[in-house]
Amino acid sequence: MIPVRDDLRVLEGYHSPQVDVDVRLNTNESPLPPPDAFRDALAAELSRVEWHRYPDRAATRLREAIADWHGVDPSMVFAANGSNEVLQTILLAYAGAGRRVATFEPTYQMHAQIARVVGSEVVEGERNADFTLDPAEMRRVVADHDPHVTFLTSPNNPTGLVEPAERVTELLDLANGLVVADEAYAQFADWTALELLDEQRPLVVTRTFSKTWSMAGVRLGYAIGPTWFVDDLEKVVLPYHLDAMKQLAGCVALRFVDDMNDRVRLIVSERERLAAAMATLPIDVTPSGANFILFRPTTIAGREVWQHLLDRSILVRDCSGWPRLNDCLRVTVGTPGENDAFLTGLKEILE
Ligand code: PMP
Repeated sequence: MIPVRDDLRVLEGYHSPQVDVDVRLNTNESPLPPPDAFRDALAAELSRVEWHRYPDRAATRLREAIADWHGVDPSMVFAANGSNEVLQTILLAYAGAGRRVATFEPTYQMHAQIARVVGSEVVEGERNADFTLDPAEMRRVVADHDPHVTFLTSPNNPTGLVEPAERVTELLDLANGLVVADEAYAQFADWTALELLDEQRPLVVTRTFSKTWSMAGVRLGYAIGPTWFVDDLEKVVLPYHLDAMKQLAGCVALRFVDDMNDRVRLIVSERERLAAAMATLPIDVTPSGANFILFRPTTIAGREVWQHLLDRSILVRDCSGWPRLNDCLRVTVGTPGENDAFLTGLKEILE
């Protein structure tokens, strides 16, 4: 065996255990597949791919389609293999050895994980007990550490809380480095940092096709930011990192915006139904602007509730052992039938 890099020895990697169950509500995917018409249109497009040629390195058509949808210039769009690869590319460009990356915990674990993998120091700010972010804590982290990259996740994972606009603008006023608004779940929320984008501001917004677009299997994500930012990422990313199939899948998906909006509306109304029903049970529910809900049973240990749900073939995410998330579980909003099964199970366990 060859010893891995010294600074990687303590890292464990990021795992989301999968178990074979009837009701799978643990990874924040869309419960519905993309429309049949999407599959047919994509199959037709794929039959025309020139398989012996490298793909369009600049992903021109895909970036144009994304830009068009968001009403920005294609030179402000960078696409990659899932928003995780977007985040990695950002950190390769702006973090790395000798640089600092700030997160406000608890939040999406991959921010700190990738930051460490690329050799940066991670500075962890603390959220309040209700998972909101105190501006004083933001000021402390920026003043003490002057981070090169600071993450705000909105809606946050695993809490579901939407970061208020003034929190993002305050951070932009304070920070010297890049501010990354990770908006993997923003389509389920009522506010987006996209409206704050400006060529002069070091703000970028990251998005994914994995959730709203029912395309977690495709691995496609993107960032929108100033043109200088996109130019910087191009220096770091591997040549032809985005294959021809993925570029086509993204372009075809964007022809189905109305279907996707219907799916978002369904998930949001199911989320509200779930949250209202859960509020009648002995659990603390964190208000969510995402496609999942974080909750903490108050009469039975979280881990026990997770196991009882699993005994009923319902899988939710067990966050109860994660730092700052004692007894917490996270349920992804599923189809109405899956949500009913979850609610019935939860009631039986808690009542
Ligand atoms: N950001 C957040 C906040 C997430 O929760 C996730 C998915 N778990 C991602 C990014 C990564 O998404 P993708 O599938 O696009 O890599």
